Amino acid sequence: MKAPLDIRTTESSDETLLQLERLRTKNAALETEIGALNAKIHKLNQQLESIQQEQERARMFMSAIDQCSESIFFTDLFGSILYVNHSFERTSGYSRAELLGQSPRLLKSGAHPPDFYQNMWSTILRGEIWRSRMANRRKDGTIYHEEVNITPVRNDEGQITGFVSIKTDITELLQNKQALEAANAELSRSNLELEQFAYVASHDLQEPLRAVSSCMQLLERNDDDKLDTRSHEFIQHAVGACKRMRALIDGLLTLSRVHPVDGQLEPTNTCIVLDQACSNLATAIEDSGATISHGQLPTTCAHPQMLVQLFQNLLSNAIKFAGTTPPRVHIDAQRDGKWWIFSVRDEGIGIEPSHFERIFQLFQRLHTRDEYPGTGLGLPICKKIVSHHGGHIWVESGTGMGSTFYFTLPAILADGKSCPAPNPPPTINP
Ligand code: ADP
Repeated sequence: MKAPLDIRTTESSDETLLQLERLRTKNAALETEIGALNAKIHKLNQQLESIQQEQERARMFMSAIDQCSESIFFTDLFGSILYVNHSFERTSGYSRAELLGQSPRLLKSGAHPPDFYQNMWSTILRGEIWRSRMANRRKDGTIYHEEVNITPVRNDEGQITGFVSIKTDITELLQNKQALEAANAELSRSNLELEQFAYVASHDLQEPLRAVSSCMQLLERNDDDKLDTRSHEFIQHAVGACKRMRALIDGLLTLSRVHPVDGQLEPTNTCIVLDQACSNLATAIEDSGATISHGQLPTTCAHPQMLVQLFQNLLSNAIKFAGTTPPRVHIDAQRDGKWWIFSVRDEGIGIEPSHFERIFQLFQRLHTRDEYPGTGLGLPICKKIVSHHGGHIWVESGTGMGSTFYFTLPAILADGKSCPAPNPPPTINP
């Protein structure tokens, strides 16, 4: 016989099933919620990571600014200091704590008039960069000089919110410049003194030399019959020595007369200058049978008398060192920017390249007096003349290959009026 159905048991199992179903639903909802939370956490983690990266970049950036050798500081719109780097602290002598919140006026040296600062403020408030040299005062009261650059900083809307200043300490640079200028002035003064001394000495030496020379000649003329061959030889030696001495004195005198030509440069026709030099050398040209030719020669900015001396010295060397064949010399010029490069080419004995520098020094000669007469002053005079015009002189040659002497002289500017200030000329082979 079947047992009767227990109604209570059935009811409770339905209840359990219902609860189970509710729990399942809740579980599913929780799982969805957890998933969403996980996604949120993941996103937050990502944001945290990128914030950390940003912070790291900002730290690196601040550390780079801190270690920068230039002084850097930020101010707000009213000039109140918000940040200074280490270099700023080092240069000014103030600590960061002493500077923050202060105005850069703290460093005012009193060296600049009020309109200097007015100009600065009006420039940066207009949104432009202000650049200038500035003298400031350190905490210890000493003055230092800076190259200053102040740049306005703008927000995303383009409004100026503050300023960043970058300053380079140029105190040492200025001190070095002043020391150099003082040394140059002293050098010019002592050079001038030396030149004056050389001039006076050369001038005064001429007189006794003339006396010795004429006494010797008188002696030879008047007592010719009383003198033996040896005495005649001695007199010849003495007269020859006097002649050489006179050439040396003349050379030194010429050298001492070569003065800086600032402000004395004038348009100078080098063709006329060359003619003058050739006529001064007429005897040497005729005796040697030299041929002097030239290309088209320009009008340059020069001191005419000095140019005659320059051409004369180079031509006389080209004739003297021609070797066995009659000298052939060609002069030419070619434009190079603000300069003319002149060349004096001969076909003579040439110069070994190891002597190229030496021959421009005082009293340096490559031959004995018997081989070729001379004083060793011709090329130093040329060098002095050229460098007083701001130019260079150099030689290209080889033994037995002839020589070409080059020198540069300032060209006349396109406006035709002014001669340029002697700037550094081209350095082809200085
Ligand atoms: P000097 O001609 O009186 O000896 P310079 O100063 O004019 O003195 O020249 C120095 C030296 O350079 C000369 O002694 C000579 O050896 C060399 N020299 C100069 N010009 C020439 C040239 N055109 N050819 C060969 N050698 C030269």
